[in-house]
Amino acid sequence: MHPNQLNFSGGPGALPDRVLRQLQEAVLEVPGVGLSILGISHRSDWFKALVEQAESQVKQLLGLDSAHHVLFLQGGATQQFSMVPMAFLNRPGSQADYLTTGYWSQKALVDARQQGAIQQVWEGQDNGYTRLPQPEELRLNPKATYFHYVSNETVEGLQHHQVLGLEGVPRVCDMSSDFLSRPLHADRFDLIYAHAQKNLGPAGVTVVVMSDDLLQKAQRNVPGFLNYHTQIDAHSNFNTPPVLAIYVVHLVLRWLQEEVGGLVRMGQLNQTKAQHLYQVIDQSGGFYQGRAHAADRSLMNVCFRLPSTELEAQFLTQASAAGFTGLAGHRSTGGLRASLYNGVTLEATLVLAEFMRHFQHARA
Ligand SMILES: *Cc1c(COP(=O)(O)O)cnc(C)c1O
Repeated sequence: MHPNQLNFSGGPGALPDRVLRQLQEAVLEVPGVGLSILGISHRSDWFKALVEQAESQVKQLLGLDSAHHVLFLQGGATQQFSMVPMAFLNRPGSQADYLTTGYWSQKALVDARQQGAIQQVWEGQDNGYTRLPQPEELRLNPKATYFHYVSNETVEGLQHHQVLGLEGVPRVCDMSSDFLSRPLHADRFDLIYAHAQKNLGPAGVTVVVMSDDLLQKAQRNVPGFLNYHTQIDAHSNFNTPPVLAIYVVHLVLRWLQEEVGGLVRMGQLNQTKAQHLYQVIDQSGGFYQGRAHAADRSLMNVCFRLPSTELEAQFLTQASAAGFTGLAGHRSTGGLRASLYNGVTLEATLVLAEFMRHFQHARA
């Protein structure tokens, strides 16, 4: 059994069937516990062990050791937009570099500016957020307190395919929409944050991976909830955490390890999925127009347009009748977007590719 509709939503995204079944069972009774996942105390030994296990699953997938900490926080990626600058920017002389490549990095910039001095190293708005910069285009400050960027611009469908920034400047990256979707040199980042609801689980929890080096520089004089030290000391159990959301993340990570076989395999699968859709777009003779420059295309969010908004509306109506959901572009850009997060299967992607071909040929 699985959901009736094929989910290509930009987020919350599709989750693996196996995880949905396990969650269904856990809502009634977590195996071996005798309680619903909705009623297990966050102070229980069971939950303590769950957090420890989830922390080590993240580290294992990323090949990290005790030089990094893993957190499960609330407030979404948006909370990190301000929690990061609050932790590092309120000292005299501190200044952070921000790269703006789309909707989400722009939001991060706005929140950071409220907390301290920011330098924008490149501005993608000038080209309508249709491409990413080459490393040599960035005006990076070798003395910056940190450098912040977004690895995958979910709204525009732009994804960095290399690690950016200068050695010696802490890299901070919002990976909300491509975390654990492919292999990653996680040790080159000092702070990674990614909420769960795109690749990892349900809304309500955000994974933060932070180097101990950076933690040592984090401000202590901030409220406990917004304080990385407090949260790390408490192993994400400072106040009542989202037990269910963390449990689902644990199940998704187990699926990623056991059923998919790790990040290399996940990356290959995601590449194959995206290739199928981009092939339809590229071979459509201009009927489907990809939004992003080909070299910067996202494997997670395939954004495209049709020759008219009427055709786009028809596309969405027929897609919906055919059992697809979540294909409308973000409200800020319009157009169409197929999101291919980890939980979206190759089979579902092939069905969509076939639908797109068919939709075009029916109009030729
Ligand atoms: C969806 C998204 C966000 C917003 O996250 P919230 O959890 O809703 O705060 C931030 N950054 C990126 C890259 C996203 O894709």
